[in-house]
Amino acid sequence: MPVSFLFSAVLLFGSSASAAVRLGVVVVVDQMRPEYLDRSDLPDGGFRRLRREGAVFTRARHLHIPTETAPGHAAISTGRTPAVHGIVANDWYDRVAGSETYCMADAAYGLGPEHLRGPTLADALKAFDPKSRVFAVSGKDRGAIILGGRRADVVLWFDRFNGEFTTSSYYKRPAWLAAFNAGLKKKGLLPVKGKRVPKELIASPVYDQALDLLVAELVKRERVGRGAGTDLLLVSYSGTDLVGHTHGLEVPEMDAQLKSLDALTGRLLRLVDKASGGSVALALSSDHGAIPSPEDASGKALGVRRVDWQKFGAELEQVLQKKWPLPDGRWILSNQTPHLYLNLDAAGKLGLERRDFLGQAAKALAAVDGAGGVYVAGEKGGPFAEAFRLSYDPGRSGDLFLIMAENVLLGDAPPGTSHGTPWDYDARVPLVFWGRGVAGGVYDAPAATVDLAPTVGRLLGFGYPPGDGAAVRAEALAAPR
Ligand SMILES: [Zn+2]
Repeated sequence: MPVSFLFSAVLLFGSSASAAVRLGVVVVVDQMRPEYLDRSDLPDGGFRRLRREGAVFTRARHLHIPTETAPGHAAISTGRTPAVHGIVANDWYDRVAGSETYCMADAAYGLGPEHLRGPTLADALKAFDPKSRVFAVSGKDRGAIILGGRRADVVLWFDRFNGEFTTSSYYKRPAWLAAFNAGLKKKGLLPVKGKRVPKELIASPVYDQALDLLVAELVKRERVGRGAGTDLLLVSYSGTDLVGHTHGLEVPEMDAQLKSLDALTGRLLRLVDKASGGSVALALSSDHGAIPSPEDASGKALGVRRVDWQKFGAELEQVLQKKWPLPDGRWILSNQTPHLYLNLDAAGKLGLERRDFLGQAAKALAAVDGAGGVYVAGEKGGPFAEAFRLSYDPGRSGDLFLIMAENVLLGDAPPGTSHGTPWDYDARVPLVFWGRGVAGGVYDAPAATVDLAPTVGRLLGFGYPPGDGAAVRAEALAAPR
C-alpha cells in the first residue's frame, strides 16, 4: 500500500475520542520468552504489576521468519510483516551490488530508515497529529531506528565502538546528549569513549541500566508526556539478548539480568505514569524468543543440539558442488539462513532452468544434517507456507528458505543460545497492554505481534489499519466511558 494512501486512511479513521491519553509507550525486550513475565519470585512493581493490571496475551507469536531482531522490531513498529515492511532479516544479499546489506544501512546518513518501507505506528501518529512527538531509544541502532521510523523527534542508541549513546545525522541530536554521556562515564557504568565496549560487559545488566538512565534523562529534558499532543516513547532493551547469546538461558547470568530488567520495568511504569499525570497507555512485547541451549536443563530435556554455523554453511556448499561441480565459483553467493542466495548465473550457463535448478538444489540441501526443510522462495506449499508468504520480498529474500530442524541450535558459541526459526521457542513472545483504556485480564486466544501497532493506535485515539494477519485486540480495550 502506498504510504500516502495509508496516511490518508489513518486520517479518515482518526478520532479524538481518547485524546486524554497524553503518552503512549512501546517496550520491546530483545529476546524475551513468554515465561519470563510469569516468574513468581520477583518483587511487585515490574512484571508482576503488568500481569496484575494489564491485558496479557498468553499465545502471542511472530508470524514471519526469520525471528531475529530487525524483522521482529519492524513487525511491532509497523504492524506489518517483511512482505510489506521490507526488513527481511538483519542482513540480506543485494543481488545488484553483489554484496551483503545491513538492514539499517543508509546511503545518505550512514544509518537510517532507508530500507524500512511504509509508515510505522509512530510515523502515522505524527501524520495524524503533527503536535505529537516521538522518542525512540535502544541498546542497538536497529532497535531504535525501526521503532522510531522516519519522522521521530529523537532516536538514540548505544554505540559500542565509542562507548556512548548516539544518533545518526538523519535525526536531530539532542543538545543535552553530550552532557548525559559525560555523566554516564563519570558513573563508571560503561568504559570511556574511544574504546570498543567488549561483548562480555554489555552481556550483563549494565547495558539496560545505562538505557534506563537515558530514558529518565530523555523524559526529564524533553518533558515527555507533557507535549501539546500525544507523545510516543519507544524503548528497546537489548541486554537480555546479549546475555542469552553469551551465557544461555538457565544460568545465573540470565537470572540476574531478568531480575534487573524487572526492576527497570517497574521504574519505567512509575516514570511514565508520573510524567503523563496518569494518562499513559503502554504495550510490551519482544522481537523474538530463544531456544534453550544444550547445556540448559530444559535444553537437555528437549534434546537440543548445537550445529556449528561455519561447518553447516560449508556443508551446504559442498552438497551443491558435488551435484554440479563449479571449481571456479560458489553456488551459495550468500548464506543468511533462512535466506539462501544462489548463483543463478552459473546455473544458467550450465543450461539449468531456474525453477528446476532451485527445486533440485532445495531437495539436495534438505539432506544436510541440521536442516529441517528447504523451500523455493515465493512458491506456495509446505508447512510454513503462510510464514513464507508474509515474509517474502522478491527483491530482498533469498532464492531458497532453509528452516533448521526443530531443537537444532544454529550458531553461537557455547553456552550461548540463538534464534531465527519459526518454531515456538523462537516465535512465541509476550504481548501485554497496560494503562489508560486497557481492559486487564489474561487472554488465551491466539495473537500476533503485528496486533500491537493497531491496538496501540486505538488506545492513543487514532485508527492504524491492521495489516495482513493482524487485528486490533478489541478484548484488551476497555469500553469507552
Ligand atoms: Zn533481537
